[in-house]
Amino acid sequence: MDRFTARPSIVLHLLLLLLHRLLLVSHPNSGVRGVSDRGYGAELLSLAENEKDWLVSIRRQIHENPELLFQEYNTSALIRRELDKMGVSYTFPFAKTGIVAEMGTGSPPIVALRADMDALPLQELVEWEHKSKIDGLMHACGHDAHVTMLLGAAKLLHQRKDKIKGTVRLLFQPAEEGGAGASFMVKEGALGGAEVIFATHINHKSPTGTISSHPGPTLAAVSVFRANIEGRGGHAAAPHLQRDPLIAASFAILALQVLISRETDPLDSQVVSVTYVQGGGPLNVIPSSIELGGTLRSLTTEGLHRLQQRVKEVIEVHASVHGCKAAVDMNVEGHPSYPATVNDENLHQFAQRVGALLLGPENVKVGEKVMAGEDFAFYQQVIPGLMSSIGIRNEGLGAKHSPHSPLFFLDEGVLPVGAALLTAFAEMYLNEKQELGAERMTQAC
Ligand SMILES: [Zn+2]
Ligand SMILES: [Zn+2]
Repeated sequence: MDRFTARPSIVLHLLLLLLHRLLLVSHPNSGVRGVSDRGYGAELLSLAENEKDWLVSIRRQIHENPELLFQEYNTSALIRRELDKMGVSYTFPFAKTGIVAEMGTGSPPIVALRADMDALPLQELVEWEHKSKIDGLMHACGHDAHVTMLLGAAKLLHQRKDKIKGTVRLLFQPAEEGGAGASFMVKEGALGGAEVIFATHINHKSPTGTISSHPGPTLAAVSVFRANIEGRGGHAAAPHLQRDPLIAASFAILALQVLISRETDPLDSQVVSVTYVQGGGPLNVIPSSIELGGTLRSLTTEGLHRLQQRVKEVIEVHASVHGCKAAVDMNVEGHPSYPATVNDENLHQFAQRVGALLLGPENVKVGEKVMAGEDFAFYQQVIPGLMSSIGIRNEGLGAKHSPHSPLFFLDEGVLPVGAALLTAFAEMYLNEKQELGAERMTQAC
């Protein structure tokens, strides 16, 4: 080839390169092939907005009828009724009240989306038309919205089922609030052959219409403990004849603080909180035993295991120094430990791109680490997963209180946004996966 024939092809190549750059600049956060333009996001959002009245009515029904962990019978029945109406097939039960719906080709790749269904033992203090009808129970963590958003995604995905390039499994799980419902879903095979899993949790700190995600360790591994320190009770006028468990407990409680201040890397995040001490009664009697307990948290599951071991040792040793005996329970019945929620780095990057397409880059943030626990972590022990956050803050509506507050209130404007987000997680993941596969095929050729 001589220089004259080479030149036009170089010019053409440069022009193509420039065009490619320009396209990338106009969509700096996309980097996604296939459904990579804002048109996709706008279309999905408008489809979700069309369903807003239905979404709001579903959420209000669930909000008015909260159910505690593993008792989500009516919530589960409502979900199944709605799936039946849509014509979406599902398997029931998983973990007592859980449901797994499935749509798409029925073949890999399989992506899972998850919502939790349970409420909290709290009395709602917000006076509004759709306040909880059950005294002492309230959806104060937004799980009513999570269920609604996943049902919304079911509807949108079903409307667009011919475009699903693989399979989507929708997990409606019980008992996130302390019951480790996710661990039972996993044991009973709810993940199927899913290779990744996504979920989103409402976030009272960011405004409606925004989302965030955080890579790596994001939510804490959590466990509780209870200890009984047994001494020898007797007349408080003769302490030398007794073995005072109160003194042992007091030294132990102070010594536990040292586990964080002296034994934990200052750059690691861990918590030891003694939240409960009980024992004694008559003011002139040294009690024969004292009970204490609390919560342990760490941003890594290994860190939690170390804390559990050290808390046990510290309490036992301090009891023994004071002539008492301690029994420490790290597996308190009804309080299963949760592993740390560790978000997959690639899925975090992917979620940032999906969020930007849907809501605009200005409405997508890198999230924060929080020392609360989330049983979503059990899925992440099996496959890569991403727990994202979705904004519900709207001060004009009073949507500004933290989850688990009796004043918790959410902006229902989040419902279509969440439905579209979960839909986009599934559709775009499967699209990208297919395109990557196709790319590999062409490279191989
Ligand atoms: Zn909660
Ligand atoms: Zn929650």
